[in-house]
Amino acid sequence: LTEKLQNTFKRMRNKGRLTEDDVREGLRDVRMALLEADVNFKVVKDFLSRVEQEAIGQDILESLTPAQGVVRIVRDQLTELMGNHVERIKMASNPPTVIYLVGLQGSGKTTSTAKLAKMLKQQGRQPLMVATDIYRPAAVDQLQALGQQIGVPVIYEDGLSPVQLVREGWQRSRQMAKDVILVDTAGRLHIDNALMDELVQMQKEVPAHETLLVVDAMTGQDAVRVAKAFKETLPVTGVILTKLDGDARGGAALSIRAVTDLPIKLIATGEKVDALEAFQPDRMASRILGMGDVLTLIEKAEQSLDKDEIETHAKRIGTKDFNFEDFQAMLKQVKKLGPLSKVMELLPGMGPLNLNKLKDQVDDKGLDRVEAIINSMTILERRKPDIIDGSRRLRIAKGSGTSVQEVNRLVKQFYEMRKVMKQMKGSGHKRKFPKLPF
Ligand code: GDP
Ligand code: MG
Repeated sequence: LTEKLQNTFKRMRNKGRLTEDDVREGLRDVRMALLEADVNFKVVKDFLSRVEQEAIGQDILESLTPAQGVVRIVRDQLTELMGNHVERIKMASNPPTVIYLVGLQGSGKTTSTAKLAKMLKQQGRQPLMVATDIYRPAAVDQLQALGQQIGVPVIYEDGLSPVQLVREGWQRSRQMAKDVILVDTAGRLHIDNALMDELVQMQKEVPAHETLLVVDAMTGQDAVRVAKAFKETLPVTGVILTKLDGDARGGAALSIRAVTDLPIKLIATGEKVDALEAFQPDRMASRILGMGDVLTLIEKAEQSLDKDEIETHAKRIGTKDFNFEDFQAMLKQVKKLGPLSKVMELLPGMGPLNLNKLKDQVDDKGLDRVEAIINSMTILERRKPDIIDGSRRLRIAKGSGTSVQEVNRLVKQFYEMRKVMKQMKGSGHKRKFPKLPF
């Protein structure tokens, strides 16, 4: 989906000025792309008519960058389609909070139960998990293994029925002073009455504060059908969309809310226990459009950056004149955009996976240290980095409260960066950006 949409928008952008026909044609492509991504037909139809209305209403064709205007409208409407804001897990005012995870077999219930337990634990809660999938012995083992891994107790006893097990879980939660009960339930390959009945009986015994339906994003519109069916029988309060790391199409994410009115609360993006996050519709829209949140970044940049200042220094990028003074000035501008982690989130290609990896390497503290080092250089040293010898490095390290190693690293990375920038400029080709020294 992402690729298709990107191509469509690229074509629009290349045109510069757009006619109404161009926009119509572009939206036809968007329509095809959405249908191919297995987005519900009616959802697509409503969606496009809203986009068209917006586009006409805003006179974007008259604007300087009409293609960008269309992209922005498409993104905003996608966001709205998915619910507009983050939906939290509701906690009972009178603990313990009871959360059921339900869904078909293989959708990711057991894994998500553990992920959610870990997330809640990190938020300072005291969760407890109950294994009620008694039909597949391996399922209990699976949850117990996960429980050990994350340090959350799992309640299970041989011979008890699922209904008895939730009751047991409830009682134990009181004894153990746990404030959240996460119930992992059995799934079937298809929805059947026996399964639904059992879930209903369990909730009669121990009522739910949240019933989270776990669906596999890779199943597209099937996920929507499943959601509809569960909602008919159970008080489903939200959806956990799993396997988004493997979902190239995005159809489920786009249709579920619109068709079933169920909010997507959490998304899972991998098999590891920390691959769970709050669902952010705007992020997802940008992700589907494959543009990170570049528009936001541009807006922010326009508001906060000093263009003249940037230009003066940017001119020297990729020349041998590029020095620490330029570098310092650019760092200042980068910092104006806000915390680095937030800026990075807005960059394209920064899925949550990449981002977590990068965040370890790049952080604001690192940025502060780099700035401190440069601040401790003399003006001459900043302008002529070549003169920074051993004794100067020692002085700079002392002055900035860092170590000589850190100063060495920065100087080395500075030269590397200058070299790569020069090559980038020379070849005119897109090259991989050098590793930044913070
Ligand atoms: P259940 O039958 O609903 O309890 O599903 P499980 O939790 O056992 O998950 C089924 C399979 O999907 C397991 O192999 C999980 O590791 C895998 N899985 C679950 N969530 C994700 C996810 O977000 N991404 C990926 N790649 N795999 C997942
Ligand atoms: Mg399971």
